Amino acid sequence: MTQDELFKVLVAHCKEYGFIFPSSEIYDGLSAVYDYGQMGVELKNNIKSYWWQAMTRLNENIVGIDSCVFMHPKTWVASGHVAAFNDPLIDNKDSKKRYRADVLIEDYLGKIEEKMNKEVEKGRKRFGEAFDEAKFRETNPNILREKAKYDEVHNRYVAAEEANDLKEYKQIILDCGIVDPISGTANWTDVRQFNLMFSTQISNTGADDDKIYLRPETAQGIFINYLNVQKTGRMKIPFGIAQIGKAFRNEIVARQFIFRMREFEQMEMEFFCKPGTEMEWFAKWKENRMKWHRSLGMGDDNYRFHDHEKLAHYANAATDIEFHFPFGFKELEGIHSRTDFDLGNHQKLSGRKIQYFDPETNESYVPYCVETSIGVDRMVLAVLSHSYKVEEVGNGETRVVLAIPAPIAPVKVAVLPLVRKDGLPELAQKVVDEVKFDFTYQYDEKDAIGRRYRRQDAIGTPFCVTVDYDSLKDNTVTIRERDSMTQERVPISELRSIIDKKVNMSNLLRQL
Ligand code: ATP
Repeated sequence: MTQDELFKVLVAHCKEYGFIFPSSEIYDGLSAVYDYGQMGVELKNNIKSYWWQAMTRLNENIVGIDSCVFMHPKTWVASGHVAAFNDPLIDNKDSKKRYRADVLIEDYLGKIEEKMNKEVEKGRKRFGEAFDEAKFRETNPNILREKAKYDEVHNRYVAAEEANDLKEYKQIILDCGIVDPISGTANWTDVRQFNLMFSTQISNTGADDDKIYLRPETAQGIFINYLNVQKTGRMKIPFGIAQIGKAFRNEIVARQFIFRMREFEQMEMEFFCKPGTEMEWFAKWKENRMKWHRSLGMGDDNYRFHDHEKLAHYANAATDIEFHFPFGFKELEGIHSRTDFDLGNHQKLSGRKIQYFDPETNESYVPYCVETSIGVDRMVLAVLSHSYKVEEVGNGETRVVLAIPAPIAPVKVAVLPLVRKDGLPELAQKVVDEVKFDFTYQYDEKDAIGRRYRRQDAIGTPFCVTVDYDSLKDNTVTIRERDSMTQERVPISELRSIIDKKVNMSNLLRQL
């Protein structure tokens, strides 16, 4: 199976077994919006729980909050999202593909730069040691011609950007003869400004001032509550605030299943520290987060760091943790050193003093901040795509198994009476009573035992417990382990401790 095919099969499997459904499917779905089914919600909750416990239980100086999706609109002015979370859109009418107009123009300028650089390299070869690059750039006729073209387009582009002149964007694209790489035509629509934030009205007057946004990230809910948490929790720097919650982005190009959604969930932690110590914390959180990922046992080689060379204006260091998805290594989590950008801007815009008084040095400062930010849904996709396996089980038969790390598997144990008579279902119910307070379980008495095992494999249940005629005599059952498929006869009274050893989340936490 190619990776592409595997991905399609996985999407179908997620639907068939109640993990993930396209939203509003009875109305033919809603693009880039997905719902979690009965299995998906358990998996997702387990992932969230593992992250939450790793943050708030294992670190005395990290506390959690749960802020709202709606925030005062000024929040998004301070964070820069109102001004900068925009993309200018353009469509090609022939290919029906959508592009960012600014990227088309920047690519064009990049090509002119490339031409000039090539000319410089030619000159360097020709003149050797005596080559004076600055002079060459000032005098070479080919470079001067290209430079004039570059400057003209660049100046128009900068002016258009400053004036937010979308008509001019299109005119530049037409004047430069920029064509769609797919259709090869310049049959473009008008350019439209596109802010990735969803907005709505808070009251029903319809006035523009009533406009509020659905948060495009959860982080700002932490920043605007910094003072509340620091004061009421008597938190001392360094400390962190963690949050899990929904975020909304009107993504222009939304593909790849739950990798890029318009409504998704984030797990973010903002770690506040003294200015000057942020690089130390950045390094520590990089290591810490990689450890969290690797503890799940999904293969160390499936993760890598991708350090950013081009930094956002507010960041002084940034890296992504990338995971090997079926469509290649892609961002799973972002770790950013955000300086005092967010708190500093909220301080300016709100007029409130957002500072920390350091009792040791007797000085006040706006804390610096290191952020770790991971998408829950991307994490679900990482787990599912890594876990899905088709295995030969002899006699030319195969089984589909989700080898989900046991502590985050949706169902921990299945209880299966061998037959539906002779008192076996009743004893199986007693087994259920034995395990139900500690573990998620399923009771299944339909179909042959082999088919029931397959159903549990397909949802990733680590243990199946079978109640048979011997069980009636000696109170023992067969316990089958998902990955090795080995079966063992054990007393019912020992079931809880056997299952617990493998599925208890504290086993993962202890590795961190
Ligand atoms: P990308 O470059 O893939 O668009 P980003 O750099 O915009 O991601 P951040 O703003 O750093 O992402 O958000 C932090 C995390 O939130 C990402 O690492 C990702 O796991 C998750 N995330 C961001 N956008 C989406 C989305 N549209 N759907 C699902 N998860 C998302």
